[in-house]
Amino acid sequence: MKALVFLCGLIVVALSQKLFIGDQVLRITAENEDQIKLLKELQSTEHLELDFWREPVKPSLAVDIHVPFGSLQFVRTFLQSNGIQYHIMINNLQALLEEEKEEIILSHQRERDTNSFDYASYHTLDEINDWMDSLTAEYPDLVSKITIGTSYEKRPINVLKFSTGGSNRPAIWLDTGIHAREWITPATGLWTAKKIASAYGQDPSVTAILNKMDIFFELVTNPDGYTYTHTSNRMWRKTRSMHSGSSCVGVDPNRNWAANFGGSGSDSNPCSETYSGPFAHSESEVESIVDFILGHRNFKAMITIHSYSQMLMYPYGYTSIPVPEADELHKVAQSAVDALASLYGTKYTYGSMMSTIYPASGTTADWGYTNGIKYSFTFELRDTGRYGFILPANQIIPTAEETWLALMKIMEHVRDHPY
Ligand SMILES: [Zn+2]
Repeated sequence: MKALVFLCGLIVVALSQKLFIGDQVLRITAENEDQIKLLKELQSTEHLELDFWREPVKPSLAVDIHVPFGSLQFVRTFLQSNGIQYHIMINNLQALLEEEKEEIILSHQRERDTNSFDYASYHTLDEINDWMDSLTAEYPDLVSKITIGTSYEKRPINVLKFSTGGSNRPAIWLDTGIHAREWITPATGLWTAKKIASAYGQDPSVTAILNKMDIFFELVTNPDGYTYTHTSNRMWRKTRSMHSGSSCVGVDPNRNWAANFGGSGSDSNPCSETYSGPFAHSESEVESIVDFILGHRNFKAMITIHSYSQMLMYPYGYTSIPVPEADELHKVAQSAVDALASLYGTKYTYGSMMSTIYPASGTTADWGYTNGIKYSFTFELRDTGRYGFILPANQIIPTAEETWLALMKIMEHVRDHPY
């Protein structure tokens, strides 16, 4: 009977999931500003339901578009007739998702401790929450779990606190999974959190950081969206909130912060993937962090982790005016990406967000910086587009290992440069 209920559950989940049969992801290399303009026109053609994985910004940056099967012919004709070069990155998105799903089912077992946990596969929110409870039980003198708020759909917003004592020590903020479909980021987060816990007392550098500072780590920063990517739509990015005046769901939680809120690189259209929301901090997932960090008053670093593109960026995102500490932040970023590349040769670009990727307003790192947190960084993890958001699970551990080297460079710098 139990097996039957389980099987029915699986079938219901399978039936309610959005399918992407025959959908393709196209990589486009625009040759000039005119072609960028044409791509922006394409983007604003709503009935095509295109999902831009990488936005058209400038000719030197590749554009990746997830094109639904039904729009493929139109898009291909549009590109060809305008002389715009493209190639197919993903030939059938659904086939790639089936492969990913198979791996999840194969590895699906409830591990009871964080040593036997399968870090090389993707996990559901429930599994991650169980894992957090295991970690706090295994490292009771170092790790605790705090709940800083609740999501739109009333899920607890959990943060791991790594602390060796003291009161209100200078602190480092880390978050992963603020964009729901960027699965590599919470997966990297789990490995990283375990690394921090197990390295204390073993690794002199980690030990020295934790003897001076606390680390706060939010692994699933958009729990509603993350759950939705597992149950309904693997390609979901935003939160799951509803706001009056539109039937479109969700806000881009990396455009919702009070840092040039609503400016360039964000969208006031609720149906857009970069919808900034009706007002700054409208999303409880964002407001919970804002309240927590402002209440704490002693954060020295804020590191927010996304995918994909292999980039490390510092403020600003909304203006090309450099921050006064740009030279220092640039050097820190450089040493971090050099360390990262030393392990597997993975190459990152780095610089201010505006110069490295595109203008973006209302972002986490700009909010951190404008609220006195000098060391505010944004990571974009692997890859550069071969798999995009569907990074195969066998890349989780290498990604986490190399990212760790970059994180350590930043955290060591923060530790050694108190302000
Ligand atoms: Zn992101």
